[in-house]
Amino acid sequence: MFFKEKPFACPYSNCLKKFNEKANLTVHLRVHTGIKPFCCEYQGCNKKFKTFGQLSDHNKVHDNEKYYKLDLLVVIYAKRISKELCH
Ligand SMILES: [Zn+2]
Ligand SMILES: [Zn+2]
Repeated sequence: MFFKEKPFACPYSNCLKKFNEKANLTVHLRVHTGIKPFCCEYQGCNKKFKTFGQLSDHNKVHDNEKYYKLDLLVVIYAKRISKELCH
């Protein structure tokens, strides 16, 4: 059988994959390198994701945190006010 030459071969010796286009090889290489181009932009959170969908799913966690912290701040502030009033 004759195979059409696929010029972009995966450089990993234990992987025999070959691709017609360099872009396809680049996408495939992520399997080996674990490159995750979508980074969470929240401070203190260095999570990285392979797809935008995974990142936006993850961002929901921070949205919930934000509202929770806001509630907490209001509670603390209210407590401080009441302390000052009772003093
Ligand atoms: Zn490979
Ligand atoms: Zn995050």
